[in-house]
Amino acid sequence: MDSINKLLDQDRQIIWHPYSAVNSDLPIFPVKSAQGVRIKLMDDRELIDGMSSWWSAIHGYNHPVMNRALNYQLESMAHVMFGGLTHQPAVDLACKLVEITPKSLQTVFFSDSGSVAVEVAMKMAIQYWYSRNKPNKQKMLSIRHGYHGDTFAAMSVSDPVNGMHSLFASSLAQQFFADAPDCKFHQDCTDHDLRSFLEQLEKYHHQIAAVILEPIVQGAGGMRFYSPTFLKRVRELCNQFNVLLILDEIATGFGRTGKLFACEHAKIEPDIMCLGKALTAGYMTLAATMTTTEIASSISNHEPGIFMHGPTFMANPLACTMGLASIDILLNSSWQNKIQQIENILKIRLKACLDFPQVKDVRVIGAIGVVELHHPVNLKTIQPQFVKEGVWLRPFNKLIYIMPPYIINKDELCYLINAIIKIISRMK
Ligand SMILES: *Cc1c(COP(=O)(O)O)cnc(C)c1O
Repeated sequence: MDSINKLLDQDRQIIWHPYSAVNSDLPIFPVKSAQGVRIKLMDDRELIDGMSSWWSAIHGYNHPVMNRALNYQLESMAHVMFGGLTHQPAVDLACKLVEITPKSLQTVFFSDSGSVAVEVAMKMAIQYWYSRNKPNKQKMLSIRHGYHGDTFAAMSVSDPVNGMHSLFASSLAQQFFADAPDCKFHQDCTDHDLRSFLEQLEKYHHQIAAVILEPIVQGAGGMRFYSPTFLKRVRELCNQFNVLLILDEIATGFGRTGKLFACEHAKIEPDIMCLGKALTAGYMTLAATMTTTEIASSISNHEPGIFMHGPTFMANPLACTMGLASIDILLNSSWQNKIQQIENILKIRLKACLDFPQVKDVRVIGAIGVVELHHPVNLKTIQPQFVKEGVWLRPFNKLIYIMPPYIINKDELCYLINAIIKIISRMK
């Protein structure tokens, strides 16, 4: 017990956690190990994981096939620089990504995190228009309630209120924002849903390099789901106004919404796509920005003749190996059935939450279940309650949500759902 308290003390004093303060009085739980859908704490309590470590651990933890692939790659090489050198894991993963993503996407730029993949996407769009003699197209158009990461450019296209843009005002690039659509996933989008988006395009398209948004599911900006018909219209309008479309599939990619990539719901293809999170199933930090042959050649064949980006750990071999292994595991499983089963259970069982006056909305798509409350939760009190129930969930603001590893079974999923129902029932 002493060693646990010492660890917690040191952690509290010197380490920043995500969106946290040092010396915070929020509870924090030390983990000993993780296996399958279970996270084991240092005090030996076991929690059923409902978060997939923020969308990433889709096959659960400590997966034997993933572990073997990692060890195998480690014996030949952990890392080499990617300037002037290449290797099999990078080439194999790039080929695989080109094969499984929408067919217009034919080239791959590897980076280390989702935020950087978004930065790279924005730079690609700007450099493309520069190469087409339209150097004034440097701005982005996004929709409110989005989330694209925490670095400056990624932050500049995330929701201005959630992202506290006012705090960073004079350091942050000014972008254009349209209202998010009100149409739910199963509804058709109306002219009303598109009005603000169309207005921004009409007014500013000469300055706009690209539209950037999360397809179908807006994740960390509010877990909102919108209609594929909106996305379809956005694609048409981007073509009409000579603006590129960047789809940020960092959260939605690799099956989470029931399709391999969420843009498939709308049967559209982006000009640039960002991948991250589940790309390596939570093993290594890796992201990718993909684009078309047309954009890639235009950038490459025009002064300065190169794309202006190149991270130190670009295409890290261990990370690429994990990407390949994860995609193989996913595509060799009956993932569509699995996600469908998770969706069915979430839809049937999570509905019970609607009986509580504290609950404003319950929504489910694929392996994502969201309970929206009327008021923000108190993380300090609710987090220990979930842990006491034996589940790992991490609510934010008014949202309690589940996005479990795809390997979760029915009993484990129902256990998670029951814990949510129990804890909401105790709320005042
Ligand atoms: C998490 C996320 C990001 C940022 O990824 P990081 O790896 O945290 O930098 C960007 N876009 C979306 C949609 C995300 O969910």
